[in-house]
Amino acid sequence: MNTMKRRNVIGLGGAAAVAAVAGEAKAAARPSAAQLKDMVPSLSKASVGYRDIPWDGRVCGACVWFKPPDAGSTVSHCHLVAGPISAGGWCEAWMKRG
Ligand code: SF4
Repeated sequence: MNTMKRRNVIGLGGAAAVAAVAGEAKAAARPSAAQLKDMVPSLSKASVGYRDIPWDGRVCGACVWFKPPDAGSTVSHCHLVAGPISAGGWCEAWMKRG
């Protein structure tokens, strides 16, 4: 998330939680599998500017917070953002996986 986009996130409702999670997500080392396993998605799509289309070549499927569909399902989720998402979507908390 660039500085401009982070400012936009901070200026939205529920900003403290969003800034804390998204900011920490950006600043922190990549989360371990154990950390991801324990996370409960709590950010709304609106608070992080989620959309079902890529941005600048970045997609949820290449994001460290992406949760692939469970076996037998086609619905993807996110470790940060609540609700179903698209592997081809994007939000301002995006962080390149691996
Ligand atoms: S881009 Fe946003 S919604 Fe998509 S997986 Fe990453 S953090 Fe979740």
